[in-house]
Order: sequence, then structure tokens, then C-alpha cells
Amino acid sequence: MSSNIIAIVGRPNVGKSTLFNRLIGQRKAIMDNVSGVTRDRSYGHGQWIGKYYTVIDTGGYVHGSDDIFEAEINRQVELAMNEADVILFMVDVDAGLTGLDEEFANVLRRSKKPVFIVANKADTNARAHQMGEFYALGIGEEIFPVSSQNGSGTGELLDEVVKHFKDEGVEDPDAGIPKLAVLGRPNVGKSSFVNLLLGEERNIVTDQAGTTRDAIHSRYNAFGKEFIIVDTAGLRRKSKVSEDIEFYSVLRSVRALEDADVCIVMLDATRGIEAQDVNIITLAEKNRKGIVILVNKWDLVEKDTHSTKQFEEEILDRIAPIKYVPVIFTSVITKQRILKAVEKAMEVYDNKTKKIPTSKLNDLILPDIERYPPPAIKGKFVKIKYITQLPTHNPTFAFFCNLPQYIKEPYSRYLENCIRRHFDFEGVPINLVFRKK
Ligand code: GDP
Ligand code: GDP
Repeated sequence: MSSNIIAIVGRPNVGKSTLFNRLIGQRKAIMDNVSGVTRDRSYGHGQWIGKYYTVIDTGGYVHGSDDIFEAEINRQVELAMNEADVILFMVDVDAGLTGLDEEFANVLRRSKKPVFIVANKADTNARAHQMGEFYALGIGEEIFPVSSQNGSGTGELLDEVVKHFKDEGVEDPDAGIPKLAVLGRPNVGKSSFVNLLLGEERNIVTDQAGTTRDAIHSRYNAFGKEFIIVDTAGLRRKSKVSEDIEFYSVLRSVRALEDADVCIVMLDATRGIEAQDVNIITLAEKNRKGIVILVNKWDLVEKDTHSTKQFEEEILDRIAPIKYVPVIFTSVITKQRILKAVEKAMEVYDNKTKKIPTSKLNDLILPDIERYPPPAIKGKFVKIKYITQLPTHNPTFAFFCNLPQYIKEPYSRYLENCIRRHFDFEGVPINLVFRKK
């Protein structure tokens, strides 16, 4: 079974992300509170009359001068033609036919995939009638008037779209496959790293059944491991536009971070750890993501003056109190420890997803608690009776006790250390909760 892919293309402001959110059953776009830009996901899953699909909103954040648009049109359409089973070309009946729509049509004409013109903002019948002018574009199987905002017409559109699917699709084609995000400041070597993984192994699992052929989240098989790298599009394709690069790259990394299971945070060995690196790591920890730090460009470092030990201590110092994060010294250029980096990310994923049996947990942790029980508060003794790992997404341990409110931060930290001493949770934030029993 494969995943059926729908791609949405079109000029800015026609309503692509509004339709996207509707197709994945999510009414509200997530607004970025800093910038005021819509920062909704560009990749999501949906279902229509028993058929599962994946939607890609190909529209990037790029807006600006005309020469940028040309590149943007090509990027969107190329992505759609490569990845999609059905392409939705969105136009705006309210604004009418524009030059940019025509430019899109010119490129889309090469598509061997079915293209539907979606005439959006047809909120009323009167407006829907204005869609006639888009026949002049001379492409597309059919024109569908829709209102992404109120949902009208989207059912008819989907009825037609699903006819072009090969099968029922799968609900979540990526279930159980580690999602990695490669993060870090510009120029640390992120794209080189990703390209090395892709290029070396030439093993993008594109044409195999059951895989997602998505250039935004690419699924790979490198060194015998299967994983997804989120936001590869942003990594492999370097924007030629210098303005706003910093802004967009920060936005993209936040999104990639949210989508990932494990964040590979790359530093530049010649620069050491900087404030922005600390921010990324802290954000990953806050989002309960697995973390691996790569100190890249290790080939450029004079080994007598800087030992790995020193370097590692310096990093852990800066990110304190986080101290469970593995640090690996890599060189993408000499390919030093690249395999180790991937293996470590996989290990961290395993640590993040594993479940410790309750009996084992109690056998090992209860004696630690007996040896060093929680301090009495106002003459009351806290008794922890048993511990269990909850069936949550991130490792969470529930401690059942008589007076949960009396367990304070220092003791909670002691318990976390006990868990980490007995079990391998390297690279993974763990949560402790105290419940009344
Ligand atoms: P994108 O740039 O193509 O992703 O466009 P957006 O989804 O961000 O939408 C651009 C603007 O059009 C927003 O203000 C939306 O609220 C508005 N919009 C989207 N769909 C509709 C619609 O069906 N009817 C109307 N009236 N406005 C819409
Ligand atoms: P990104 O902005 O993080 O994606 O960084 P790039 O992958 O574009 O790399 C920036 C520059 O650093 C390029 O010139 C790379 O060739 C170079 N570079 C990347 N990794 C290494 C490395 O391990 N050693 C050395 N010496 N240079 C590297």
C-alpha cells in the first residue's frame, strides 16, 4: 500500500494553506506569534470516503520580487510533479485571472499527473460563476469552485480527486519510523550532512510500496537504517535570496523541530557553542524531543589544543542543567563518524520509545528510594509505593505515593538520576509525575 499524495500549488494568497488545513481536518492555521505569518504545516494526512491521503502545501514562505517568483513557481511545480498523484492548482475567483496564474499554468502544462483547477473563494453562487475565465488557462481536467473558508465545494473536489488514487492508502505511512531534524546555525554543515547521507547511499526509498514520496519529509535508508529527515527541502535547496534567510531558516527549524522525534543539532567546531545553539537545544528539550549534538568540521580543529573531552565539557556546561545529551565529533568532509552520528540518533529514538516493565522499574528504583527516602515535610512522611512508566509518547514515569504534593524539585531530580543510572535514556528528556495512591 502506498500513500496517496495531493499537492497544492498556486500563487500566494489564493488560499492554499486554508484548503490544506481543511483537507487535513484542521480548521485553524497555527499563527506564529513572533512574525504574524501563517506557520501551518506543509505536510499532513487526511481521509475521504475511506481513502487515506497525504497533502503537501507546496507554497513556501517566499514572497517578494518577480525573479523570486519564477524560482518559486518552478520549485512548487517541480515538487508537485515529482511527488504527487494529483495536483490542485489553486486560483482566486475574487481576484480573477492574473499573470502569475498564467505563469503557473505554463509550467504545469508539462505535468503528466492529473491537474485540477481549484477556483477558491467561491463563497457565494455569484462568485462561483466568475470561475469561467479560468478556462482560458487551457489546462486541467476540470475546474472546481470551492470555498476553502466555509468548506463548500471541497467534497465534490475530493470525490473527483480520490478517483485518481491507486488504492485506499495508509492512515499514517510514517508510523514507527524515526523522524530526524537536522538543526543548527547557517554554515555549520547541515546540507552537506544531509546530502552525504542521500548521495552516498543512493537509497531514497521513493519508489517502494508503502513509502512516502515526499520531498519535504524524505524517507531514507542509509547504513541499513530507515528514517525520515524532516524539511529536507529547506536543507538541500539553498535560497539564493539573502534577505530574510535568517528569518525563514529560524521559522523552518522551529517547524522541523516540532515535527521531529530526534533533533540532530550541529555546531561548528571552529566556533564552539554559541547562544543560538543553546536556544535550539533548550527548545528541543522543552518540546521533549530526543537530542544529539554533532560538533562538525572537526577536521579543522588542531587536536593538541582542543580535546574532545574538553569540548564536550564546555558544551554540557553551557546547556546545564541538561546533561544527558550525546556529543559526537564529526567531519562531513572527511566523513568522520557520520555513521556513528546516524546510529546515535537511532539509539536516542529507541530510548525515547522504549517501555520499561513495571516490575523491573520497581525492583531497581524502590531500593534507591529506601536508601534515600523523600525528606519529611511538617512532620509528614512521604511514602512512594510503586512506579510505572505511562503509555505516553515521551518517557513519563508515575510515582504513586501518599502525599504527592510534598515531593519537591531536588528529590524529583534524585529520582530522575536513579532512573538514568539504571536505564539508558541517553539523549532523551524524561518526565516524572507524582500521583496519589
Ligand atoms: P496561501 O498564501 O495561498 O496559502 O493563502 P492563505 O490560505 O493564507 O489565504 C490567503 C487569504 O485568503 C487569507 O486571508 C484567507 O483567510 C483568505 N481565504 C482563503 N480561502 C478563502 C475562501 O474560500 N474565501 C474567502 N473569502 N477568503 C479565503
Ligand atoms: P548549512 O548552512 O548548515 O547547510 O552548511 P553547508 O552544508 O552549506 O556547509 C557550509 C560550508 O561548510 C560549506 O562550504 C561546506 O563545504 C563546509 N563544510 C561542511 N561540513 C564540513 C566539515 O565537516 N569540514 C569542513 N572543513 N568543512 C565543512
